[in-house]
Amino acid sequence: MKYTSKHTPKDPLADPDFRAALLSHYDTHARDLPWRGESDPYRVLVSEVMLQQTRVETVKGYYDRWLERFPDVDSLADASEDDVLKAWEGLGYYRRARNLHRAAAVVRERGGSLPRAQAELRALPGVGEYTAGAVASIAFGEAVPAVDGNVRRVLARLMGEAAPTAGWLRERAARLVEPTRPGDWNQAVMEHGATVCTPQAPKCGECPVADWCAADAAGTQAELPVPAKRAAPRSERIRLAVLEWDDLVLIRRRAPDGLLGGLWAFPEEEPVALAMECGLVPGGHPVPLTDVVHRFTHLEATYQPMWLECEAPSPGSPVGVSGSDATGTDELNSECQWVDADAVDVALPVAQRKVLDLWRTAKEDA
Ligand code: SF4
Repeated sequence: MKYTSKHTPKDPLADPDFRAALLSHYDTHARDLPWRGESDPYRVLVSEVMLQQTRVETVKGYYDRWLERFPDVDSLADASEDDVLKAWEGLGYYRRARNLHRAAAVVRERGGSLPRAQAELRALPGVGEYTAGAVASIAFGEAVPAVDGNVRRVLARLMGEAAPTAGWLRERAARLVEPTRPGDWNQAVMEHGATVCTPQAPKCGECPVADWCAADAAGTQAELPVPAKRAAPRSERIRLAVLEWDDLVLIRRRAPDGLLGGLWAFPEEEPVALAMECGLVPGGHPVPLTDVVHRFTHLEATYQPMWLECEAPSPGSPVGVSGSDATGTDELNSECQWVDADAVDVALPVAQRKVLDLWRTAKEDA
């Protein structure tokens, strides 16, 4: 790399002053976050799982509410999956919540304490290399790195590496960990990436480690690192049946595996056929509601909700999915429920919640 500007950078791997400079900056400038300074392993695990692919500002409220609802491993292990998903509602990537729930059950089975070592933590459901490294270093003081997207960007710029591989990052990050304060060190690097060495417009003028930065010296901050290539999400149009009966709407639990597994949603079915399956009589033709577009990691879904008002064949007739008066198939009865739109007590994904609101508005305007 050619250094076009002010200095030849010092080597961060060989100079202990580098770590001291970054840690000192962290000690005085770190944001005050609800999980900052926390060393309880369960709480650290919860914060790290919530922060995966999710903004800090979003996580703040969820973290406190979650700990009020599930203050420890036992309370989480004892909870129903519906309660767990409800507490996670709106945070997205619901697989994380289900894995956290499973991990709590595993930990309790093994005596109730989280394992201390990164290698053992990795055996828990949903705990990958990053999360295991974060928990092991922050809660247990193990001198292991935790490499997330922020750390990738910071190290790539510091060392002038355009396309760091996982092995390259792991090796450099491991060599840099401050052995006396590994948890603080990992948080300091992440904090640096989140607040100073940001993806766009890094604040190099106020950077405490600019003297060690190859990208700053070469003027290549904006180009490093090259973004990891991602496949474009596929597009799919999905019809939803918004079946109404007796001022209630029908929702169905999705299969446990796959997209939004275990969550409740409007059935992806043709509404008239579904009404008949429930033993109901369609009260007219299905009415299209506004499309709802939602972007998942690998999928852009355009939901097309179709609202159909239904009636029972005769007053007081039982319908197919309603708990005590259910008469439909066992599968339909156990996986569906009629809900009052104002009192849904199970988790609905964001797009499904929008469909519910659209239906409520359309009903009020009808
Ligand atoms: Fe990042 Fe700029 Fe600091 Fe280098 S000098 S680490 S590019 S903020």
